[in-house]
Amino acid sequence: MTRFAYVNGRYLPQDEALIHIEDRGFQFADAIYEVWSVRSGELLDADGHFGRLERSLAELRITNPKSRAGYRLVIAELLRRNRVRDGLVYLQVSRGRARRDHAFPAAQTRPTVVMTAKRLDPAAADRRADHGVAVITRPDQRWARCDIKTVNLLPNVLAKQAAIEAGAAEAWLVDEAGKVTEGSSTNAWILNAEGVLVTRQADHAILHGITRSTIMNRAAALGYRVEERAFSVEEAQTAREAFMTSATTFVTAITSIDGRPVGNGAPGSVAIALREAYLESL
Ligand code: PLP
Repeated sequence: MTRFAYVNGRYLPQDEALIHIEDRGFQFADAIYEVWSVRSGELLDADGHFGRLERSLAELRITNPKSRAGYRLVIAELLRRNRVRDGLVYLQVSRGRARRDHAFPAAQTRPTVVMTAKRLDPAAADRRADHGVAVITRPDQRWARCDIKTVNLLPNVLAKQAAIEAGAAEAWLVDEAGKVTEGSSTNAWILNAEGVLVTRQADHAILHGITRSTIMNRAAALGYRVEERAFSVEEAQTAREAFMTSATTFVTAITSIDGRPVGNGAPGSVAIALREAYLESL
């Protein structure tokens, strides 16, 4: 089946969906992106992701080329053309095409908008969550504004590859103080010995995950205490549970960190309960 992408107002077969070599996203990673999960044809946490999209653009002073309604129309058409009921929507907005020069181009330069949609099997993700995953740790080598969702993901790419090569699913990034910031594409959580859920505060060192904030609310509603603070690798390794959150993994239990089992080495009951609570609320 031909997959269709949206590029600057046109729906094209993905092989023909091209951007210019002087697009600033390609030249400088001068672009932001968003990812929505789709279940039963619905975008999950839609407004949270739109809000972060608007914030990322504003932080980089890229003019938002569309309203939420405008994006939603394109998303609906892409889901239809690609026959996606369960899967992902990817959106990227760059500062546009201009002769290569570091400084911003002329104010009338039109941002480039690219969107794609793909199908995913929800059962495969559920099976992975049933088993839990291993993570390794890596030094956090990113810049000082990880709260902006830019396409500048090279340190994340290298960390994820290191994880895969080590037989793990994710790399947790560790700052100079020895504290976990987040995963290469997920937020990091533990349930400590006192039964408190801990996840790093939403500062400039992490992406403010939309799933992270939904899970914070769900956890509080279920009566768990949530503390937003940094935790060390050792604290995580000796925690009762560890898990990660993201639009694509929802809540997925972590069963080992750098080869050391977390808890009894099986997915923890709180991680499982939070995943169920998240998916039930859809
Ligand atoms: N942290 C990083 C670095 C990410 O790339 C992502 C998602 O792509 C997340 C956290 C999770 O964010 P969200 O829950 O909004 O998907």
